[in-house]
Amino acid sequence: MPTCQKCHTEWTWKDSQKVIFQFKKGLICPYCGETQYQTSDSQKRTSLVGMAPLLMLPVVILTDSWFLTISLILLASITHLSVIPFLMKLSNNQELMW
Ligand SMILES: [Zn+2]
Repeated sequence: MPTCQKCHTEWTWKDSQKVIFQFKKGLICPYCGETQYQTSDSQKRTSLVGMAPLLMLPVVILTDSWFLTISLILLASITHLSVIPFLMKLSNNQELMW
């Protein structure tokens, strides 16, 4: 789970979800209110997981079922969002991804 680098409080899975859904450039710590950023390694990891649904593309093309397509996209999105907090590492400074 991500740990704030200012107040050293470990965010819960629920805290992380709330922070992610703020859709801001920085992540505001729910405990001290300081802005945190994902480390570049963390950004790479979460992006890679985000691309995982693309692996299902051949299945979707082969089966040609809109129900299966929507189910797979939903399942992949839910899985992605659930897993992100476990991969996130925080930093006090904004780091470039590459
Ligand atoms: Zn904090």
